[in-house]
Amino acid sequence: MKFNVLSIMLRVNHMPIKAHSLQCGIQLSIWITTICGGPWMKWEKRYSTIPNEAPWMAPHAEEWDKVTMKEIIDKLCWTNTAKKFATLFVNVNVTSEPHEVSALWFLWYVKQCGGTTRIFSTSNGGQERKFVGGSGQISEKMAEHLQGRVKLDRPVVRIDQSGDNIIVETLNHEIYEAKYVISAIPPALCLKVHFNPELPPLRNQLINRVPMGSVIKCMVYYSEAFWRKKDYCGSMIIEDEDAAIGLTLDDTKPDGTVPAIMGFILARKSRRLAHLTKDERKRKICELYAKVMGSEEALHPVHYEEKNWCEEQYSGGCYTAYFPPGILTQYGRVLRQPFGRLFFAGTETATEWSGYLEGAIQAGERAVREILFNMGKIPESDILMPEPPSLDIPALPITTTFWERNLPSVQGLLSLIGFSTLLTSTAAVGLLAYKRGLVSRN
Ligand SMILES: Cc1cc2nc3c(=O)[nH]c(=O)nc-3n(C[C@H](O)[C@H](O)[C@H](O)COP(=O)(O)OP(=O)(O)OC[C@H]3O[C@@H](n4cnc5c(N)ncnc54)[C@H](O)[C@@H]3O)c2cc1C
Repeated sequence: MKFNVLSIMLRVNHMPIKAHSLQCGIQLSIWITTICGGPWMKWEKRYSTIPNEAPWMAPHAEEWDKVTMKEIIDKLCWTNTAKKFATLFVNVNVTSEPHEVSALWFLWYVKQCGGTTRIFSTSNGGQERKFVGGSGQISEKMAEHLQGRVKLDRPVVRIDQSGDNIIVETLNHEIYEAKYVISAIPPALCLKVHFNPELPPLRNQLINRVPMGSVIKCMVYYSEAFWRKKDYCGSMIIEDEDAAIGLTLDDTKPDGTVPAIMGFILARKSRRLAHLTKDERKRKICELYAKVMGSEEALHPVHYEEKNWCEEQYSGGCYTAYFPPGILTQYGRVLRQPFGRLFFAGTETATEWSGYLEGAIQAGERAVREILFNMGKIPESDILMPEPPSLDIPALPITTTFWERNLPSVQGLLSLIGFSTLLTSTAAVGLLAYKRGLVSRN
């Protein structure tokens, strides 16, 4: 099998504090700027103009919404390695394929997560922290606080706001009445709900047009964290068409117990491997880890768990909804627009860290403020109140190196010196060779 592992990071540094740090320093942005060079940096500057709250108002909104990320990647990346790597960047971040997503939407998505480095980095980035005890505690603690008012296993199938109060009916025919309702489900799942009166035309069509991403989350448990003996931190970014997993992280508990590697089967690969049995996927994954880490111990897990989010009927996929070309500019405006006394939350409606837990919470709080405003309890200006920065875990500024800022791309180099000069210029050939050495590690 042709095998192409872009990198395995080497540092291990675990901090058993309230939020467990995964510090392994995946500096994807360094690679992406190294591989794509100047053009990517230029794009970073361009997409920094996309407004978080209204990407459809961006200076190039229409133009960027008409093209897919594949078209942008094909334009920016001249080498196959760069194309594959940029594809993986899209796969990992939004569990979909570059040809499936609008360039405007994807660039907005990365921007509202703080940019290329912030979204992907483990240190000082989106992938740094885990909840000690698991993130399920957020819902559990909220449910505890609400003292029995959280009703499980009762999918909503009807929302009727034709009378004074809103009537909400569940699949098991329970009826609830309220003055206001917040819907916090992904937009596409509203297709399972019957609305009276019917949803307005743009929202009715929006919910047909924003599919969920595809991912299978795979946990391989071992008797010991053997990778740490090799000074590997357990983070792997694997770019190979035959490899099931695209990204892994060490998921050992902060106190060192339950050694495990978490890996994602992403986008096209989750579709391709869906027909396999759980055991077949486990074998494929262990063989892959053994190869990547050069360690026979990877072949002997003590346990394996997986969750195919694509089969979850009340999620429809994960991590979040994606916008195919043409949808954000035409329908984005109604994402957060209330319909009567029905308000919309859910991570897809967030303006920071949309697609993440953080975004889900921001959206929920915003929807509550919309209702408070409707009740005359707060001024309108309070609705879009920005989230206060975290005092426990402040986001540190992102810094870039001289090389990240200045290394030219192959495309940039060619246009700078001209192709014919390149063939005779020793210096240019030297620089190109240097660059190729950086990108291909077979
Ligand atoms: C594999 C995976 C890894 C992820 N990793 C991270 C991560 O590391 N960090 C991070 O911040 N985020 C991560 N996410 C994303 C994160 O889980 C979501 O952004 C977040 O859960 C969204 O919250 P939400 O409340 O908007 O929607 P959801 O969590 O999807 O909640 C919606 C709820 O509505 C319920 N529902 C659906 N339809 C109905 C209905 N008709 N009636 C009643 N209830 C209904 C669903 O059952 C669900 O419980 C990950 C997601 C996945 C799948």
